[in-house]
Amino acid sequence: MPDSDGESGAVQVVAGTIRASRNPPAPLIFSLMSEHTDVTLKTASLRALRGRCPCCGQGKLFRSYLKQVENCSVCDEAFGQIRADDAAPWLTIILVGHVFLPFAFMVNVDFLPTWAAMGLWATLFTAISLAVLPRAKALFIAILWQTRAPGYQPVELG
Ligand SMILES: [Zn+2]
Repeated sequence: MPDSDGESGAVQVVAGTIRASRNPPAPLIFSLMSEHTDVTLKTASLRALRGRCPCCGQGKLFRSYLKQVENCSVCDEAFGQIRADDAAPWLTIILVGHVFLPFAFMVNVDFLPTWAAMGLWATLFTAISLAVLPRAKALFIAILWQTRAPGYQPVELG
């Protein structure tokens, strides 16, 4: 039978045909359940938000402000290769710019001189951003780890 898909060489199998009934179903590329079925996504996320290992909840997740540990010091689970990329700054901007910032308009600081009010808000929102950023990164590391999402494994180049 000629290939119906000339580009890839793959044969298109139409559901309901005799050919479809002869072929076994395609294997799942991603397993539907995590290997760590005892750790739910919620538990992993809450542990990470406290700065702890999503797997055991004991070891530290970060070795510095934003650098995660290569392996958990307690359970040896590997986190060094997980890439949260731009997700953490994205969530930080969403939270600080769209959730916390509106509160600044509800507080009256007219009694302060302009320079003091600007300094106050700049300091406050810098502090909130610095507090949210590592927690946002921890959250995405926990999600990538628990779901075994793309980014969990190191990418092979070349
Ligand atoms: Zn651990």
